[in-house]
Amino acid sequence: MCVNPDMPADSRAAAQNLRGELRFDEPMAKYTSWRVGGSADQLYKPADSQDMATYLRSLPADMPVICVGLGSNLLVRDGGVRGAIILLHGALRELRIQELRDDYGLLYAEAGVALPRLARYAAQHNLVGGEFMAGIPGTVGGGLAMNAGCYGGETWQLAVRALTINRQGQLRNREREDYELDYRHVELKARGEEWFVGAWFVLSVGEGEVSRSAIKELLQRRIASQPLNQPSAGSVFRNPPGDYAARLIEACGLKGRRIGGAQVSTKHANFIVNIAGASAADIEDLIDLVVETVARQTGVVLHCEVRIIGERSGRSA
Ligand SMILES: Cc1cc2nc3c(=O)[nH]c(=O)nc-3n(C[C@H](O)[C@H](O)[C@H](O)COP(=O)(O)OP(=O)(O)OC[C@H]3O[C@@H](n4cnc5c(N)ncnc54)[C@H](O)[C@@H]3O)c2cc1C
Repeated sequence: MCVNPDMPADSRAAAQNLRGELRFDEPMAKYTSWRVGGSADQLYKPADSQDMATYLRSLPADMPVICVGLGSNLLVRDGGVRGAIILLHGALRELRIQELRDDYGLLYAEAGVALPRLARYAAQHNLVGGEFMAGIPGTVGGGLAMNAGCYGGETWQLAVRALTINRQGQLRNREREDYELDYRHVELKARGEEWFVGAWFVLSVGEGEVSRSAIKELLQRRIASQPLNQPSAGSVFRNPPGDYAARLIEACGLKGRRIGGAQVSTKHANFIVNIAGASAADIEDLIDLVVETVARQTGVVLHCEVRIIGERSGRSA
């Protein structure tokens, strides 16, 4: 265990009991699909949920905490993150069938499980309805936080209950009704800061083979329409009601528009790709340019789906 000698004595004592990996001044570009981002003050990859609880309790009460899964919907600014990042992908990875009935099955997946793994695991066990997750390169935790979805499916259509953890390291069950859920929007109705540790998903019993071929077909559609060979964060903007952000961006002549190493994808206009060592500032400036241009030309204000965190560097925040 790597423990910072500058830590307060009580935090240092708690940190000595940790079983995961603690790193200081850790570059976030390693953990985001855009491959950009400055360093986090500290990054912790817990050994399990109990270890995550110990870590949370070891932190000073005023230290900001952010959970990260696969960083596939995250722009970390170049100035990095003040506070603690808890990295869950590869950490909380339990996946099991909790209950199997004649017509449905209940799966439990920890927050760090990749959504495509969940989709394939369900199909292997003849549980259907989770195929849409196969093309979303995030984790269960990120999927729950974003209500990630595509092709008519959404994470919270299948999730019935979540296991969460709070700042004091207390675990609790949350029902679907405890959240306000909408298109790419999830908000805990109660006050307080909590993170997802895992969730239970209900899927119908069906033909695994049919599910596997649906997954294959869905992945082919993605390969044909999305720039999957370039670093991106998927769709940058939410679709406005009754329209598509990609259609509006293309109609404004922005396909291929570039700032520094960031470019509006020539394949899918709602993607911004890192084509040549982009900085987070390049990407954010391009996001702002798209919003301004689309608003000016069409009157529609696009809203960013990607979460932006951290501090700007070399510019005023
Ligand atoms: C090529 C590509 C295609 C994509 N296609 C889709 C798509 O079809 N549909 C779609 O919805 N999204 C899509 N995305 C975006 C992204 O994959 C999803 O939003 C995904 O759910 C993010 O998961 P993550 O683990 O990467 O989350 P991260 O990017 O790590 O985090 C995203 C947000 O969730 C929070 N978060 C993460 N884990 C937790 C946790 N355990 N508890 C609480 N909060 C947490 C983070 O703090 C952050 O605010 C795509 C991205 C890429 C790169």
